[in-house]
Amino acid sequence: MLEAGRIAGNASGRNHGFVLPGFAESMERVVSRVGMEHAKALWDLSEMGLRYVRTTIAEARMPGVAPIAGWLKVSKVDNGDEVLADVQLYGQELGAEVEGWPTERVREVLKTDHYFHALHLPRAFHIHPLNYALGLAERGGSGRRAHLRAHNQRSRSMPKACASASPRRPPACVPAISSSPATSISPR
Ligand SMILES: Cc1cc2nc3c(=O)[nH]c(=O)nc-3n(C[C@H](O)[C@H](O)[C@H](O)COP(=O)(O)OP(=O)(O)OC[C@H]3O[C@@H](n4cnc5c(N)ncnc54)[C@H](O)[C@@H]3O)c2cc1C
Repeated sequence: MLEAGRIAGNASGRNHGFVLPGFAESMERVVSRVGMEHAKALWDLSEMGLRYVRTTIAEARMPGVAPIAGWLKVSKVDNGDEVLADVQLYGQELGAEVEGWPTERVREVLKTDHYFHALHLPRAFHIHPLNYALGLAERGGSGRRAHLRAHNQRSRSMPKACASASPRRPPACVPAISSSPATSISPR
């Protein structure tokens, strides 16, 4: 492994820790660019990525990674029709496990009137990204195991990244959540 600074010292260890299917581009745009068949294949590939992360964490018994289930993409405007269209695209066309949440359900969970409808991906999850990246490095046998272990001990006590944005959106940390404490959220 070649690293100028600390292993996982940059984006890989400092991101929001959202493990989501999909891409930086919206799936609607992906479909319009490559067609439904290829978009579906790309979506499946991204879901495979999710499974890889989940399985790797479990198999390596990575300490301090603590996957937390669920991701909520909330709307800041009252656009139920758009959310419904997204739910249909993700669920029926792409085969994703997805739920459309009406405003009332969102507001039962998030104690604010700021958000409206939401798209919920129950199989997406949230991890401690630094501990995951260090776990991967240690698993890869970088020859710096002792250093990594010491680093890992320190990082485990770090607070988790604020539950916030997807890789494609700027962070907007919103304090979560009452009845569904496991779900991370991201505004549209
Ligand atoms: C604020 C933020 C939040 C994000 N949230 C998410 C998220 O929730 N989910 C998600 O999937 N993605 C997220 N991302 C994106 C994700 O973190 C990055 O796409 C990913 O970490 C990029 O990995 P990388 O290895 O390419 O880069 P990095 O993790 O930045 O690693 C590059 C490394 O190269 C080293 N380097 C640079 N030059 C040299 C050199 N000449 N010699 C040796 N080493 C060198 C640097 O020191 C650095 O450590 C987020 C990104 C940011 C910035």
